[in-house]
Amino acid sequence: MDCIFCKIIKGEIPSTKVYEDENIISFLDIAPANKGHCLVMPKEHYETLIDAPEEILNYTLKVGKKIARAMSSSLGNDGFNVLINNNKSAGQLVPHMHIHVIPRFKGDGVRLDWTPKKYKDKEINDFAEKIKKFL
Ligand code: AMP
Ligand code: ZN
Repeated sequence: MDCIFCKIIKGEIPSTKVYEDENIISFLDIAPANKGHCLVMPKEHYETLIDAPEEILNYTLKVGKKIARAMSSSLGNDGFNVLINNNKSAGQLVPHMHIHVIPRFKGDGVRLDWTPKKYKDKEINDFAEKIKKFL
């Protein structure tokens, strides 16, 4: 399989690792939103959040929290974003599920915001009903 993150995990492509254990790896994003931006992922290849088993997700987030804490202690950031892009339409460039942990500083100019859409009348309830049917 031609997955760049699997190649990093196998050691075929270099990376700047900050954490590794039997199941998880974390390394610095080469094109960071802010310096210190880390990626955390399971070593096993799962495309999206929906594909990854619960216990793997839980453990990935647990390591993500560890990274976020270490980052905040060492880089002096007062906030951080934790995010997962799922599929191309959501901006996922590498189809190997990973968590971004991005250090944030006041006035750093990093944009993760969006222009809010508006619901018509009671439309918000229709959306809730549609989603709830599949839960
Ligand atoms: P996403 O858009 O959520 O799939 O994020 C993929 C991230 O991987 C981007 O932020 C890229 O900058 C980063 N990236 C791509 N190739 C590498 C690499 N070889 N080493 C480290 N980060 C990478
Ligand atoms: Zn992969």
